[in-house]
Amino acid sequence: MIIQVDNLSKAYGNVKAVKGISFAVREGSLFSFLGTNGAGKSTTINILTTLLAKTSGKAAVGGFDVVKDAQKVRNLIGVVFQDNVLDPILTVRENLTVRGSLYGLSGVKLKNAVENAVKIAGVSEFATRPYGKLSGGQRRRTDIARALVHTPRLLFLDEPTTGLDPKTRRDMWLMIRDLQKNSGMTVFLTTHYMEEAAESDDIVVIHKGEVKAHGTPLELKMEYCSDLLKMTLDNGDYIERKLEKTTDALSIIDGYRNRIANVEIINGTLDDVFLNLTEGLEHVD
Ligand code: ADP
Repeated sequence: MIIQVDNLSKAYGNVKAVKGISFAVREGSLFSFLGTNGAGKSTTINILTTLLAKTSGKAAVGGFDVVKDAQKVRNLIGVVFQDNVLDPILTVRENLTVRGSLYGLSGVKLKNAVENAVKIAGVSEFATRPYGKLSGGQRRRTDIARALVHTPRLLFLDEPTTGLDPKTRRDMWLMIRDLQKNSGMTVFLTTHYMEEAAESDDIVVIHKGEVKAHGTPLELKMEYCSDLLKMTLDNGDYIERKLEKTTDALSIIDGYRNRIANVEIINGTLDDVFLNLTEGLEHVD
């Protein structure tokens, strides 16, 4: 397990942002951390990336305690947050070079590390342009390239596709997937797009500082949403049934077999899972 979180809590004064959460992330996996605004995602990520002190509990990354071995943790993670932190005047390549030298790289090693990040993140076409002149999608790619210069084992991506147009979002997403598959790097992702989370290996849903669910997309769908059977009969009657399992539709359909005009099964989605786990509770937006 590359991340191990045990009974982790964080309070800001009397606001309990994270309330004794536990979960683990498998090395090499694509992991999605989901929750509505105010759920405690940033707080947890900031603790895991050594930027914020916890109140109690334990968190380890790569076997290193995030408090006692903070520097070792920093060396093996890459982080891409929402706010751009690159220098707008410097070119993409210059920004990456500055970053690499901060990690103690120099000479051929630094050059190779930069070129490797340029290639993996797909920024070569605009590598000689100032960061400040790039499009949103190009900037996001460059942000990722920057996080890759020191070849981290674990990459944190906080809503990497938010604010991008659908085509750029798709391209960015494919790049992230390739990166995780080809390099064996673990990707820890937050996203508002359930179709992205649906492609991850594992999902944790956090709500009001507590872990509400943890599993593969399929496991969560089986547990927290149901399929819907919709039938119209030849006399115009409409029948709708929630299904425990999809195959339960068979016997229901069979019961009406000579009277059915139309039949449809709607599969539950991760959107339904998310809403079922978080709805009815106030949404800080
Ligand atoms: P998320 O990233 O899921 O939107 P956060 O971790 O940012 O959630 O916030 C969790 C809770 O902690 C929220 O109630 C938020 O208002 C509160 N919170 C976050 N940061 C601070 C802070 N610096 N001081 C006080 N309360 C905070």
